[in-house]
Amino acid sequence: MLYFVKPIESDIGKLHQLLVHFFQYVQDNSPSKFDKSSQFPEWYSYTSNSLQVLEKSLKEFVEDFDISEKNDIIYAFTLANKIELFFESMTDEQGNMLNIPIAKDFPKRELFLNNLFLHLYKSQLSSKTSTFFEKIGDVSFGEYFTEIKNSEFSTKGSLLVCPFCGIHDYKLIESEGRPPFDHILPKGDSLFVFSSINLKNLIPICDACNTIKDTRPLLYLDKSRKVRTLAFYPYSTGDDPYSFFVFSLTCTLPPAGVQGQWTVNMSCNHPSDPNFSTRATTWLNVFNILSRYSEYISNKSNYYIGQLSKKIKGQTLQQAEDIVDGYISNECNITPFALRNATGILLENIFHKWILQDQSFLSNLVLTTSSPLATNPNPLINSTDYD
Ligand SMILES: [Zn+2]
Repeated sequence: MLYFVKPIESDIGKLHQLLVHFFQYVQDNSPSKFDKSSQFPEWYSYTSNSLQVLEKSLKEFVEDFDISEKNDIIYAFTLANKIELFFESMTDEQGNMLNIPIAKDFPKRELFLNNLFLHLYKSQLSSKTSTFFEKIGDVSFGEYFTEIKNSEFSTKGSLLVCPFCGIHDYKLIESEGRPPFDHILPKGDSLFVFSSINLKNLIPICDACNTIKDTRPLLYLDKSRKVRTLAFYPYSTGDDPYSFFVFSLTCTLPPAGVQGQWTVNMSCNHPSDPNFSTRATTWLNVFNILSRYSEYISNKSNYYIGQLSKKIKGQTLQQAEDIVDGYISNECNITPFALRNATGILLENIFHKWILQDQSFLSNLVLTTSSPLATNPNPLINSTDYD
């Protein structure tokens, strides 16, 4: 996770709030009959249409489930939605492992829970038009993404780049389909369904990161969820994680007539978060970051070198160093704004810093660009190849 996203309030959070309200009512009053007029929040009665599947499911919950089942499910729902807690800590106050409740914990009611929560996500929250959106005044899931972007815009830019990788933008724009949100705690396979419609569990993410994430649990080290770990929570406040990362680059195959290969490594240190490196390790492992970054830089290197060759043509080594240095602090400076608005800016920065550090590479490049007739034992790719 390179940067945090600013959390915002939105009316579309009301769908989750309806369940919070309902379960709280049932816990406090133990009703034996379903009655939406007293058990649902007031906004639900503003229009005459109804969320039929939701009402039918909650009627079944109130009238057919026994008391202990109801209490267990309400407890699980309440705990599962303390999402920040699971990112913050691996154990409870007694030191026991803090497990996130899942639908599979309720074998007898697994189908009921899946049907209820997945339906609410698919047919109401993520649908382009839904009864729920009509009831709260025609806002939509897509508009929520715009709200988040606008909220970031004033201080940190337009939120165009995936916060998990920094190398892709979001695939979909609103007019082309559903907005680029996904569940940080996945709702599939009877897992974290309790937070399916909680906005705190819905995060902006690119397609590539989302695909990778779906196969690897973020808060557990194993697929059977026996060993907990920690991760960055996307809607955190505070300084962006990237400012505590130190990346280094090693050239494993110099570019000599063909594309070179580079390997990216990372270390980190956060002065006040003792678990920062655990969170960073989760990020690196789950999203396969170092391999993706190494591949990205290697693929882009010809282009970077070509651009640089044009800039330093006819210059001395010292002048070339000054040019690269200026480029790092201007065009590829990784400010919070640049990180959110330009894909790959971090990696471009890392590559140019490597160029400054690798004196033989830069002097070779200066030699190649300043004197076409110079004999070069390790000729770089001709800059005209990159255009
Ligand atoms: Zn991504």
